[in-house]
Amino acid sequence: AKTGGKNTWQRYRDEMHDAMLRRLEMRSALNEAVAGGQMRLRFQPIIDLPTGQVAGLEALVRWQHPVRGLLGPNEFIELSEETGSVVEIGGWVLREALRTFAHWRTTEAGSFMRYVSVNVSARQFRTPGFVDEVREVLADTGADPRWLLLEVTESLVLHDADQVWRDLGELRAMGVRIAIDDFGTGYSSLSYLSNMPVDVLKIDKSFIDDILHNPQQMALVETIVSLARTLELAVVAEGIELDGHRTALADMGCSYGQGYLFSKPVTSDEFLEYLHTQGSA
Ligand code: C2E
Ligand code: CA
Ligand code: CA
Ligand code: CA
Repeated sequence: AKTGGKNTWQRYRDEMHDAMLRRLEMRSALNEAVAGGQMRLRFQPIIDLPTGQVAGLEALVRWQHPVRGLLGPNEFIELSEETGSVVEIGGWVLREALRTFAHWRTTEAGSFMRYVSVNVSARQFRTPGFVDEVREVLADTGADPRWLLLEVTESLVLHDADQVWRDLGELRAMGVRIAIDDFGTGYSSLSYLSNMPVDVLKIDKSFIDDILHNPQQMALVETIVSLARTLELAVVAEGIELDGHRTALADMGCSYGQGYLFSKPVTSDEFLEYLHTQGSA
């Protein structure tokens, strides 16, 4: 079966070749991206569910690619973990997020916000000197360590526990708080959970999506929320898209929520505007 003079194998080979080239291109472009000033941040509010107030925000990275436009992290973070550029990207995100948050805290509209959440990849966290870098960025930006919530993955906390747990402990001793991101999608065992060096659980969106139509899913989320309360951890539910999600989660005692119902991730100007509309509400 021939199409356009090429058989299936040839077309397959061409596509593989193109994909490889694209990846190679991405790799080298990504290595230049931070120095080239191509990284951007978006900010998504995190809501205190009982009061409806903005408790804080999560900083989310974007890449303004010179040819392809604005790319989301799903299109480059994995690759940057492979090449190691995630260390530089993550360092930029941390500094930029704290600089922006420290500034907002001095404005009337932002003075009541309690924290900024920053994602830290496993490779970035394990890079020697990470804790010192956090200390240095806090000092440079004049940010209070208690403003910073670092979001790490379940697997980071579970694997090579020794050095990682020491570093988590050192950060917490400084006043920085630690969240387990996408909680429930990994392999946390109950025995680990009871003495993990963390402060916050973020329940992954995949658990929230279906709670209104699936009683089992609802019960599962309720279990996570009450487990967190037993362990004296705060809980953030992600992916709140419907008012029904919000009320169900508030009713079961979930303290914080994040999702499109409140706001998508937005630019710093849009975020300030959002804060103003909240203040006058
Ligand atoms: P995440 O940490 O779980 O971040 C939440 C993601 O869910 C964000 O996607 C956000 O836009 C999206 N989201 C929030 N609320 C809703 C909702 O109501 N509905 C839907 N459909 N989506 C919602 P985003 O910004 O594309 O980020 C994707 C992932 O990339 C993040 O997932 C995080 O794991 C990673 N990431 C983002 N920024 C960074 C960073 O600075 N460093 C590292 N290492 N990873 C990052
Ligand atoms: Ca996150
Ligand atoms: Ca998450
Ligand atoms: Ca997630």
